[in-house]
Amino acid sequence: MPANTLRKSGRFRSPKHDGPVHLTPRNLNELRRILRPESSTPLPVRPQGAGTSSTDCNTTAAGSILHMTGLDRVLRVDAEQLTVTVEAGIRLETLVETLAEDGLELYGGYELQGRTVGGAIAAPCFGPSIGKVGSFFSSHVVAMKIITADGRQMTLDRTQKNLLAAFRLSYGLLGVIYEATLRVRPMRTFTASHRRVSVQKFASIVDTLAASEVGFKFYLMPYRDRVYLDLRRYDTQAGNAYKTPWRLKDWGESTVMPHVFRSLNRIVPINSVRYRLIDSISEATQGLVNSRLVHTGSNVASPSRRGARGPRTHYSSWCFPAANFSMVAIAYKEFCESVLQQSGYRCDLPAAGYRLNHDPSAPLSPSFDETMIVLTTASTQLSGWDDFVIDLADFAEKWGGTPLISQSRALRAENVIQAYTRRLDFFRQMRRRLDPDNRLLNPFLAQFAQ
Ligand SMILES: Cc1cc2nc3c(=O)[nH]c(=O)nc-3n(C[C@H](O)[C@H](O)[C@H](O)COP(=O)(O)OP(=O)(O)OC[C@H]3O[C@@H](n4cnc5c(N)ncnc54)[C@H](O)[C@@H]3O)c2cc1C
Repeated sequence: MPANTLRKSGRFRSPKHDGPVHLTPRNLNELRRILRPESSTPLPVRPQGAGTSSTDCNTTAAGSILHMTGLDRVLRVDAEQLTVTVEAGIRLETLVETLAEDGLELYGGYELQGRTVGGAIAAPCFGPSIGKVGSFFSSHVVAMKIITADGRQMTLDRTQKNLLAAFRLSYGLLGVIYEATLRVRPMRTFTASHRRVSVQKFASIVDTLAASEVGFKFYLMPYRDRVYLDLRRYDTQAGNAYKTPWRLKDWGESTVMPHVFRSLNRIVPINSVRYRLIDSISEATQGLVNSRLVHTGSNVASPSRRGARGPRTHYSSWCFPAANFSMVAIAYKEFCESVLQQSGYRCDLPAAGYRLNHDPSAPLSPSFDETMIVLTTASTQLSGWDDFVIDLADFAEKWGGTPLISQSRALRAENVIQAYTRRLDFFRQMRRRLDPDNRLLNPFLAQFAQ
């Protein structure tokens, strides 16, 4: 059982003095002081952004948690070079709003706007992006400033291509990112259309969708045999994208549904009745709010604030080769049904998925070799969840799933090593060079990164 599970179980409470120290630097000098070898900072030091990862990659049971949210300024918007430079603790929502004031936007649409730029660079951050642009937020970083494990300052730009690549999706193992420059572009609007299909029908079209330029997100409801598709295409002419319908959609998905489901889980004891209600509410949200209200959008109007302020949702994400996903989708439905039959557990929220374009911009990119589909299973029900994610990890491994170090619950170290192969060897060598004393390494990451 991971230390995190013990800490959060409520049954096993660590005495106060055993926990990690929490440090929130407010400027570069404070950050450097914390990381200087001669400082008395308890080790290991784990950088943390918004803390939305679902594994122990952003935490530590002992040592120090370095909260980067104190470094949250926009430093420069360069409308001519089309770049923005920010401190790494800034939340995506603040960055997106700031860019919009200059008619600019990020490349790609990213949900969960409460996460930080540092977390979105150091861990996979993806969304329903249109076209064949880099899949990850980190693909669009063109320069970074780092404090290394021994307190040195380091600046990386496009001329140090390999080093810059290594720091993308580096999980805070090579150093702490305190500043980043990202490519941006003039704001564009898109049209969003919606379709409701069976899992079988979805399986027959997912290949075509994955190969196309259409931005897509899907919601898979295994117990209703339904998939709701959100398909996005750029408008040929600039238009208006109203925020209100997207805010309503977000409110329905990230606040109302989890709150209502959590209450239903408490007050409706008969499983069959409760789940019928839950699925009907999910379908109504998809059908009424999403399909009827939301027709045009932009990367400014559409992102969800989920995870930043809503109630706690448990989730686990796995990536599958797009070429196999037609089979995986059907197998996933059967897997969910069989777990429900055997253990009585099921997730109350729909699973969601996106395409991850083929993206070799970082050694630890999960879509380094080919286009993938990422499937996120989510639930508000904690009781039974820990066993469910172990079964889900077995299912994913059986179907050639690639784990996300920050998001795949119950991943096995052997599976990480197998999935990332020689690219992980390269990353480990780099890590040993930059952090020979393992000052940034926690036991969870040591399983495969040492
Ligand atoms: C309900 C829910 C739904 C989600 N859905 C999605 C989704 O649709 N798409 C998606 O991409 N993700 C999703 N996520 C996952 C999560 O939001 C992302 O992984 C996010 O990018 C993490 O950002 P963060 O700021 O929370 O980073 P954290 O979780 O705090 O950290 C992530 C990693 O980055 C490292 N790190 C953080 N800051 C720095 C820094 N400044 N320097 C060096 N290393 C650093 C940490 O050590 C850790 O290893 C979801 C999460 C939740 C809770």
